[in-house]
Amino acid sequence: MGLACGYELMKRDHEVLVLEADDRIGGMSASFDFDGLKIERFYHFICSTDYPLFEALEELELTDKLRWRETRMGFYYQGRLYEWGRPDCLLKFPHLDFLSKVRYALHVLHAKRIEDWTALDREEATSWIKRWIGRRAYNVLWEPLFRLKFHEYAECLSAAWIGTRIARVAKSRRSMFSERFGYLEGGSEIFVEALCSRMQAMGGQIMVKTPAQQLVTENGRVCGIVANGQRYACDKVISTVPLKYVPRFAPDLHPDELAKIKAIENIGVVCVLLKLKRPLTDYFWMNVNDASMPIPGIIEYTNLNPLQHNVLYVPYYMPKTHPRYRAESHEFIDEVISCIKRISPSLTDDCILSSRVTRYEFAQTVCTPDFFAKLPAIRTSLEGFFMADTSYYYPEDRSISESIKVGKKLAEIASVNT
Ligand SMILES: Cc1cc2nc3c(=O)[nH]c(=O)nc-3n(C[C@H](O)[C@H](O)[C@H](O)COP(=O)(O)OP(=O)(O)OC[C@H]3O[C@@H](n4cnc5c(N)ncnc54)[C@H](O)[C@@H]3O)c2cc1C
Repeated sequence: MGLACGYELMKRDHEVLVLEADDRIGGMSASFDFDGLKIERFYHFICSTDYPLFEALEELELTDKLRWRETRMGFYYQGRLYEWGRPDCLLKFPHLDFLSKVRYALHVLHAKRIEDWTALDREEATSWIKRWIGRRAYNVLWEPLFRLKFHEYAECLSAAWIGTRIARVAKSRRSMFSERFGYLEGGSEIFVEALCSRMQAMGGQIMVKTPAQQLVTENGRVCGIVANGQRYACDKVISTVPLKYVPRFAPDLHPDELAKIKAIENIGVVCVLLKLKRPLTDYFWMNVNDASMPIPGIIEYTNLNPLQHNVLYVPYYMPKTHPRYRAESHEFIDEVISCIKRISPSLTDDCILSSRVTRYEFAQTVCTPDFFAKLPAIRTSLEGFFMADTSYYYPEDRSISESIKVGKKLAEIASVNT
């Protein structure tokens, strides 16, 4: 988001300095060296409605790196793996009655057609879903996903937020029978790097390992920022870091803004990556509802983006206050290995080539009902200071494409002189 915003500002003839606290650019979309394989910290798929991303790829001459693939989806339900994601799979699924299946399909079609989310912004997600598909279908298809991703917040989410997720994936299908997602050859990193190179070629400065520490103001107006102990003079500061960090370097925001920031909760992720000798399944995405498995799903990334090894991701979502959030990485890895061995009993220890755990505290904002009203304004009470983060995608789902959109919006707002 910071890069997209900076690039847009440079196109408008502003001088830009990007500060990044991490040792690399990219945040959640950055890559790392997974024992010789360069791969993203978290899995990324692209949907056919990710228009801001397509526009940016075109501008950076990367459209030829965008690949589309027909993928398959599985559903591991109480000890058995079912094919999922097509009407015939739904009809064959033995654990739901016909009426529930029809209601489930109608709910997806309904969500796909919604254009104005304001009414659903005020509604709670699980009640909305239960009303459409019934309690039994909710328990089978949705309950573990809400519980394992949102824990104590499972029944505090906005229906608009879950609705746009359903719609995004549904609109990305080529037909009722064909699920299709995109990826970037070389990973999301090639996009981030191309954006950096373009900005540097235009004279922009990008500094890593340089956390913003203190906003400098004079008579209520921004005049600089301190990072790594050094002061950089500027007339505008735009924050795209997780909102919760903002009060640390901008404590003089208005108490109402500080209160709004404090009230927004986030879910962290502890994501297990396994490199396997052979694929676990043919599925890209597998939802899991099994009483003995504490995982919401498995993303077999290389069934979307084929690489030299088979890589799967298993996300454990939880607020950072959860007792397991700081558990040792090996605990998560051992648990995932035992789960995948149950799904594929022929998988032996020698099939597991490497394992790793990546973590991020701000993986998902908890978007509660009435969330539009709960977000503090992008233009803050401090003149020359603007802020947004991934919460501002709302009601849209989390995506790189949304970060580009919000980044551009920030640049537009910050460019207007008041
Ligand atoms: C498990 C998971 C799966 C995902 N799947 C997909 C997917 O399939 N498709 C998709 O499009 N998107 C997906 N996403 C979302 C996508 O990765 C994010 O929406 C996007 O990367 C957000 O980028 P950002 O720059 O807006 O925010 P962030 O990634 O949160 O970046 C914020 C940056 O701020 C930096 N920072 C923090 N404090 C400071 C400071 N004081 N000074 C300077 N810098 C600071 C951080 O180091 C970080 O680099 C997924 C994310 C996760 C976690």
